[in-house]
Amino acid sequence: MSPTQINHVAIVVEDLPTALHFWQDALGLSLQRTEDNPGEAVRIAFLPLGESEIELLEPTTPESGIAKYLAKRGPGMHHVCLQVDDIEAAMQRLRDHQIELINESPRIREDGTRYAFVHPRSAGGVMVELYELPAKA
Ligand code: ZN
Repeated sequence: MSPTQINHVAIVVEDLPTALHFWQDALGLSLQRTEDNPGEAVRIAFLPLGESEIELLEPTTPESGIAKYLAKRGPGMHHVCLQVDDIEAAMQRLRDHQIELINESPRIREDGTRYAFVHPRSAGGVMVELYELPAKA
């Protein structure tokens, strides 16, 4: 029921090439892939780091949620994602502790990953995402 590891740390950037100058060229992380998510109007760069990943989020339209976040708060850390074995149980445990969730029930990505966000109001200003990875076939 407790989180088992950090799955990823997501960082909002104004411009991916500029951000990669730091994360890839200077720090030396490798860029595994970039992916466009038209639904959320965001382009994501994935940089694996051990069992975790750094995800760089660049808005692709001025209307995207990430663009609004960027305009309001500037670039920087967006959320930390913790992996759990049972997301329903983890969410219930949070509710039992009067923690406010952004998603009332888990949402599902195309690859089957189930996820939900905890409201930063309840988490000391940190946006926390929970991930339950799909069962391996
Ligand atoms: Zn995330």
